Amino acid sequence: MRTRSLFITSGVILLTCNLSVAVLEYSVAEPRASATTPTTIRASVSAPQNPRKRPQTVPVVHGSSKPAQTIAPVLIATKEREPQAKPTLLEAVDHTDIRAHHQEIANEVLRALPTQCLSALKRLYVRYDNPDQRGLAGKNSIILDGSVPDSEFRALLIHEFGHITDLGCLTGANASAPSGFRDGTETIYANDPSVGFYQISWTSSRTKVSGTQDEDFVSGYASWDPFEDFAETFAYYVLQRDAFAMRAEENTALAEKFAWMETHIFQQDTAVATGTHRWTGTVPWDVTKLGYAWLASR
Ligand SMILES: [Zn+2]
Repeated sequence: MRTRSLFITSGVILLTCNLSVAVLEYSVAEPRASATTPTTIRASVSAPQNPRKRPQTVPVVHGSSKPAQTIAPVLIATKEREPQAKPTLLEAVDHTDIRAHHQEIANEVLRALPTQCLSALKRLYVRYDNPDQRGLAGKNSIILDGSVPDSEFRALLIHEFGHITDLGCLTGANASAPSGFRDGTETIYANDPSVGFYQISWTSSRTKVSGTQDEDFVSGYASWDPFEDFAETFAYYVLQRDAFAMRAEENTALAEKFAWMETHIFQQDTAVATGTHRWTGTVPWDVTKLGYAWLASR
């Protein structure tokens, strides 16, 4: 399910959701901010970072006839240090209110995901005060519960980053006609790339395509609305790609969703996790609760 406010929640287990911008900023993202100073989150995307940039090292010149003893000590020292160098923390996670352990996990996860939407995430918040929800996302901010196990923390971050990708990165513009989908009160325009994904199972933000079955969604939670469908499918692709591919062989909607993710986001990117979920005919409720082995870093 999905809520648009921290104060409007369903009675069912609310696992993850995305929020309207002002509510997110006021309610959680900036606890000390005044409620009278709402912040517009619809982001201008900052200059893309280059997370895969490696530290520069002294180039090794093979076949050089120069006497080795004049440069060898410098080269050896550089090469030995390199594997231990930690990747630079992304700005979104480089905040002292996030414990170092969670900074490292989040940094690794975000660097392992496709980079095209990375700059849309401006700020990760981790709460250590037993929040009601395990994860929340707006267009440019994510809030996670810091008390969950590491594997779940990682999966939640991936799910919430799916919302960032959908709502904060792959967006349309009002030069285009309305799509018929709405994110709360916000119009989603027809040239929003995500609309093509929504239309696989949805005719509007609340109405499914006629004849849609439970099995057409990667999880029970994904069938809540098009936005949870997107985020759960995003996470299922990252964490359970084998099971997703297997299910896609016998389900047209899932085949279309798999292909959409592959085409628009992942481009057959190298897998960063191996899922342990096996398809037995029962649709799981929540992708973030399924087992997996994490393979990255890169
Ligand atoms: Zn969600």
